[in-house]
Amino acid sequence: MRTLCSNAFKRFYSTQLIKKKVCIVGAGPAGFYAAQHLVKCLRSVEVDIYERLPVPFGLVRFGVAPDHPEVKNVINTFSKTAENPNVRFVGNVNLGTDVSLKQLREAYDCVLLTYGAEQNKRLNIPGEDLVNVIPARRIVGWYNGIIEDSNLKIDLSGPTVAIFGQGNVAIDVARILLTPIDLLKDTDITQHALEALSQSKVKEVHLIGRRGPLQAAFTIKELREMLRLPNCNTLWCRDDFNGLSDVISSLARPRKRITELMLKSLNENSISDRKCFKPIFFKSPLELSGTNHVKKVLLGVNELYGDDILNGSARLTNVKEYLSCELAITSIGYKAIQADPDIPFDDDTGRVINEKGKIDNGLYTTGWLATGPTGVILTTMNNAFTTADLICHNLQQESQKKGFNLIREYLQKQNVQSVTWDGWKKIDNYEQEQGRRLGKPREKLLSIKKMLEIAS
Ligand SMILES: Cc1cc2nc3c(=O)[nH]c(=O)nc-3n(C[C@H](O)[C@H](O)[C@H](O)COP(=O)(O)OP(=O)(O)OC[C@H]3O[C@@H](n4cnc5c(N)ncnc54)[C@H](O)[C@@H]3O)c2cc1C
Repeated sequence: MRTLCSNAFKRFYSTQLIKKKVCIVGAGPAGFYAAQHLVKCLRSVEVDIYERLPVPFGLVRFGVAPDHPEVKNVINTFSKTAENPNVRFVGNVNLGTDVSLKQLREAYDCVLLTYGAEQNKRLNIPGEDLVNVIPARRIVGWYNGIIEDSNLKIDLSGPTVAIFGQGNVAIDVARILLTPIDLLKDTDITQHALEALSQSKVKEVHLIGRRGPLQAAFTIKELREMLRLPNCNTLWCRDDFNGLSDVISSLARPRKRITELMLKSLNENSISDRKCFKPIFFKSPLELSGTNHVKKVLLGVNELYGDDILNGSARLTNVKEYLSCELAITSIGYKAIQADPDIPFDDDTGRVINEKGKIDNGLYTTGWLATGPTGVILTTMNNAFTTADLICHNLQQESQKKGFNLIREYLQKQNVQSVTWDGWKKIDNYEQEQGRRLGKPREKLLSIKKMLEIAS
């Protein structure tokens, strides 16, 4: 009996020793896709995913628009990965405050940073701090349940909204502001946003871009959605399309298709008494003004220069014009932060300094933190697979590291209550139950304290 136990112990102990220990920081798409690839490629590995929040999935939960439930299906794949016996989810642990990079590197053979790009970029123009000038990131957080944004004061009592930026985030926000409330009721949009939007007096949303239709950053799927939005006209400025018919045949297929769609829509009749979506090209915001509350924006008219018709740069002319707006939304991109002083970070680009995902021996990065905030989930997946491949290739020696056992000691000393995957599933069930009562797929919790109570 004694020998059996000790053999069993030895066997257990030796597997613990040889399993390579990898930790991933950030439970968004990059983190989950990397974990999926690592457990597939390495026979003997333990992958621990540390997440700042008690809940997983990053921007799939907090970014993807509530009326895009099909995009959120990736959660099923992530959940399968999390339930792999070699993967551990460690929620409510923040790199930089609860645990340091030095501690993680001491505990693991490899650390992969995938903590995303969560800050918004500023326009840095006068008037940006007026009341009702709001970054798109915060509005997205408000309708998607980011706790810090749940009390956002957004005044929807005026008819006109100006959004600066023409990417998919900008168009998501425009669509949510213009969608008939009945179409949002059965999504997982937060209840406070639904109530505010049901009282909204917004009639027209301008989507303002520095360059022209050939450089528009939104994609064809998002544009089609806007064109099909019930009770909403899309109105273009005809002058923005001057000369485009002449070059259209020379465009590559994706750009050609979206340009054709814009031109087709340009020639369609609008129907009166509808809300309006108004994409405006060749304009840069120069100054926001109003007494306390934003009232108007001064726009500079741009021209394009450069030889390449697709990649021309915007240059201000002397022409300026005002646009009245009671709500102004800045949507010019996201940037990452340096979560720990030991992370080599480039403040100018808002990215971790890396060479194809590698930062240093045993230290890697992928996802928006590595590439900057561009690309959809599919792009993030491909990058995560490539970086995970590099890790598999470089991680050969047997492990002497203690992995989570060491980090658990640190966390206990600091009284950090980490959340397990089972804990998240309890939160998930609770949110779905709250949603059912309101006829929605989910009502997200807006309190970390409540999440932790439920998870434990
Ligand atoms: C508003 C918006 C809408 C989008 N809609 C779509 C869409 O419809 N379709 C699509 O394909 N793509 C969409 N995208 C793009 C997609 O969300 C990204 O490609 C993807 O989420 C990037 O994944 P990531 O893992 O790098 O970052 P994230 O998804 O941001 O994940 C990072 C994770 O790290 C965690 N974290 C942050 N700091 C720390 C820390 N210090 N310690 C521990 N954990 C930390 C975060 O909480 C988060 O869970 C959208 C993006 C935005 C911003």
